[in-house]
Amino acid sequence: MECMRCVEEIEAHLECCPDCRKVINELAALREEINLSIAGIPIPTNLSVRILSAIEKEQQNTAKDIWLTGILLAVFASPVLLLFSRTFSSVFHLAYLTGTAFWRSLITLVTFISPWVTVSVGILSLFVMAIGLYIIKTLLTKFEVNEVIV
Ligand SMILES: [Zn+2]
Repeated sequence: MECMRCVEEIEAHLECCPDCRKVINELAALREEINLSIAGIPIPTNLSVRILSAIEKEQQNTAKDIWLTGILLAVFASPVLLLFSRTFSSVFHLAYLTGTAFWRSLITLVTFISPWVTVSVGILSLFVMAIGLYIIKTLLTKFEVNEVIV
């Protein structure tokens, strides 16, 4: 349904605007060209059935994706729920206390050892760590793990 007032307005504009007239003429020519080019092509008899079934399939896949996303969110959020569990909190607190006790014992022990020994052990551990990282890097480069991953 066309609004006659709008049609009159547009036609009046087209009469005095060469740019819009040019666009309208190009669109009409394009439309004519498309009509001529598809005139000889037969439309497959089951085309609408195929399109509708493809749309239905896509909608089912979307529903499946929504379910999958929900399940994944629940799986990843479940550890947070553990924090509200009294038993888990107790176990976590016990582990924390054990770690703290271990840390305090270590600090107390270290105060009895000569500072030079602790500094030397620290430097030695950094050195061993650097050598270990270098060995890992060499192994990774040697076996060209990067290419396997890509
Ligand atoms: Zn115009």
